Amino acid sequence: MTQTLARTTLGHYIAGCLIATDGAASAPVYDPATGQITKSVALGDASTVDAAVNAAQGAFAAWSATPPLRRAAVLFRFRELVLEHAERLAHIITSEHGKTLADARGEVQRGLEVVEFACGIPHLLKGEFSENVGRGVDSYSLRQPLGVCAGISPFNFPAMVPMWMFPVALACGNTFVMKPSEKDPSLALELAQLLAQAELPDGVFNVVNGAKAVVDALLAHPGVAAISFVGSTPVARHVYERGTANGKRVQALGGAKNHLVVMPDADLEQTADALMGAAFGSAGERCMAISVAVPVGDAVAEALVGRLRERIASLHVGAGDDEGVEMGPLVTAEHHARVRGYVDLAEREGAQIIVDGRNAQGAPDGGFFFGATVLDRVTPDMRVYKEEVFGPVLGIVRTADFESALGIVNGHECGNGAAIFTRDGDAARTFTERVQAGMVGINVPIPVPMAFHSFGGWKASLFGDHHIHGPEGVRFYTRLKTVTSRWPTGVRAGAHYAMPTMR
Ligand code: NAD
Repeated sequence: MTQTLARTTLGHYIAGCLIATDGAASAPVYDPATGQITKSVALGDASTVDAAVNAAQGAFAAWSATPPLRRAAVLFRFRELVLEHAERLAHIITSEHGKTLADARGEVQRGLEVVEFACGIPHLLKGEFSENVGRGVDSYSLRQPLGVCAGISPFNFPAMVPMWMFPVALACGNTFVMKPSEKDPSLALELAQLLAQAELPDGVFNVVNGAKAVVDALLAHPGVAAISFVGSTPVARHVYERGTANGKRVQALGGAKNHLVVMPDADLEQTADALMGAAFGSAGERCMAISVAVPVGDAVAEALVGRLRERIASLHVGAGDDEGVEMGPLVTAEHHARVRGYVDLAEREGAQIIVDGRNAQGAPDGGFFFGATVLDRVTPDMRVYKEEVFGPVLGIVRTADFESALGIVNGHECGNGAAIFTRDGDAARTFTERVQAGMVGINVPIPVPMAFHSFGGWKASLFGDHHIHGPEGVRFYTRLKTVTSRWPTGVRAGAHYAMPTMR
């Protein structure tokens, strides 16, 4: 693949200023559809993190004391600005990530919905009040911000995942340091500038670009109170362990292997359509992508395989900003090689390759394209089953009955999303009750919760106690304070030495 010299280097955004970093360490940013380097991104270090955390600490006192209504007013203005710039933002996402424009527009929209949720912060921060818990004694609870919070995001949603984090954190009165993925870093800087236009005070939101060194510096920095992480399971585990050992509150969302169980009574046309979007949308680079189909019975498996083969034959693979394209390229050449390695491995492990995307037929030359791939007769002992591929590769694990299908889903170490396709309410209800996953779909392949619910998996898909955004986000970004108050009435009861019981 040909490469051109990088033209611009994206720096950091600290205390309201874009920080240029010419000459410092940097990493290339690619256009995945052409394989060309289009820009580079600065790789910050501990001193960059220190500068950003200092700026955020400096801004905390004033921002946390700003009434929630006024903080919400900034977010209302930010919402309007994101809407105004949505098309431009979507084009930037496509140019660095590779996903189709329609998909990029959807990502901006889903992020905006969290901003809209956070605009309701005066209501969300309302506490609880109990009058007269003892004679003349009242008690009330309130939620206060934590301080400087940090966000670390993956490459696959450069707009939406940061917007899962900072709108709620800022609305709650925290200040923020964002560390986006070094693979598609532009969006975080764009959003920082829109926040400034929305009159967010300098220092409240900062961006430090970079990779592991920045993450480790955030985990070690005594000025960081809490960390929201979204990425792969090994890094999520590292962030959770290191962050909590350093006394921070951490929510670390990890990788996934989402299963879709197909019952014999499912509408197979609807199921096949759902699988196409869920397995191959965004080239499978979604933490809620379906990567395993679990048909119940061989007849269902055969019927499904036939329908998938037909649909893949007309799947339009190409550059994400080309008209009519349904699936774009993978994010980097390195990731392309990794996905290919898994399909090679699956073949050696004995999986049956029904559709082979390794040569991405029909895709333009030069980019990191990988065709839709279907592997049949995958078994739970295969590495291609156990590990997250994060590409357009759908494995089919055949099962005999509902119980063994549920056992397959629950036997996997990840538990992000799980879906069942059926017309049987009893099967759906039992699945919902017993499945070990944080997000469940019934005839819905990608059950991503809306912004006013919260998003999160179970098991190795989430480390920490809180799901992200929605009501769980408000709980994560605040801590509870409970006040018990009495006003002098003139009656003096004298000193008490036993446990107060208020009776
Ligand atoms: P990644 O784990 O490689 O990177 C995530 C972030 O961590 C990036 O900002 C990166 O710079 C940083 N990082 C990478 N390696 C690190 C290390 N060794 N030490 C410290 N920091 C490090 O993930 P990715 O490839 O960018 O994104 C894809 C992964 O994210 C997939 O596993 C996907 O399932 C997961 N994901 C999960 C969710 C969810 O909600 N559970 C959502 C989106 C993506």
